[in-house]
Amino acid sequence: MYDILIIGAGPAGLTAGIYAARGGLKTGIIELAMPGGQAASTEKIENYPGFPDGIGGFELMNSFHRQALTYGTEFIFEEVKELLLQGPIKKVVTDNQTLESKTLIIAAGSKPRPLGVPGEEIFHGRGISYCATCDGAFFRGKNVIVVGGGDAAIEEGGYLTKFADHVTIIHRRSEFRASKIAIDRAQANPKISFLLNTVVKEILGIDKVLGVKIENLETGSIEEIKADGVFVYIGTRPNNQFLSGELNVTESGYIITDNYLRTNIAGVFAAGDIRNTPLRQVATAVGDGALAAVEAEKYLAELD
Ligand code: NAP
Repeated sequence: MYDILIIGAGPAGLTAGIYAARGGLKTGIIELAMPGGQAASTEKIENYPGFPDGIGGFELMNSFHRQALTYGTEFIFEEVKELLLQGPIKKVVTDNQTLESKTLIIAAGSKPRPLGVPGEEIFHGRGISYCATCDGAFFRGKNVIVVGGGDAAIEEGGYLTKFADHVTIIHRRSEFRASKIAIDRAQANPKISFLLNTVVKEILGIDKVLGVKIENLETGSIEEIKADGVFVYIGTRPNNQFLSGELNVTESGYIITDNYLRTNIAGVFAAGDIRNTPLRQVATAVGDGALAAVEAEKYLAELD
């Protein structure tokens, strides 16, 4: 029986683990893959305080993981299949066992949103990627396309110029959502060009990606352009496949919490990207993780 079980070992879950275990509570984190979440596959994080020169996402998350281990957080590397939340004991059904806890912090994060166009699924792993850090090196000397206009598209597009000869950023509007500093840097990069007011209609290829079919939304013209790879950065969707309808979520599936990160079920908290939050950054996930752990601890104290 755990005092606090945390689902997800991204920045929110790891921080909750550090706070809870350091507070002397029996704490477990269930994680499907490697600790660190999406932040671990970000090449460089420049806005997490304390690192004026920036820090690699993997390196930062590795430190979070080691810190959680230092205080005795247990890690369970299994896939969560179902939650049984009624009653005082919360049950987490994984692919291997059923774990029990007095409180639960759901910090399962989010995953890349797919474009949903023909060819995307077929060529996933054969030219279509959602992670520049993971796959960028395969595109040395090649031409790649990045789709999106947020920080991820602009920053990861810049990172890809380390390998690719040329990066074309395709965005559906003429204005970017990304921060000014990221846009200025991309616009000054001679290896980056932009196709604005443009959407990708189809991924083209034989065995692997050879190009994309695009539509200019201003003129309605359709064109095919050549590319060796397509990196999709059009936002995220929540990792909520194990939720069974007991928890209140938004239309897009993000868990609704109050200011104390309590969900509609007593003893169940949500933190980080999976929560209905106005900002999804490592810094905000860390704040969420700390608050969720402290609130879970208060809930436990009231049970005694
Ligand atoms: P985001 O800020 O939500 O931006 C998503 C972009 O994709 C928007 O420009 C949006 O266009 C576009 N888009 C959405 N659906 C689309 C579709 N179906 N077809 C074409 N374009 C579509 O997402 P993000 O860039 O992934 O960033 C998520 C969070 O991570 C943000 O808080 C961001 O600041 C943070 N972050 C990420 C990184 C990184 O991954 N390297 C770095 C720094 C910060 P519209 O603008 O027209 O809506």
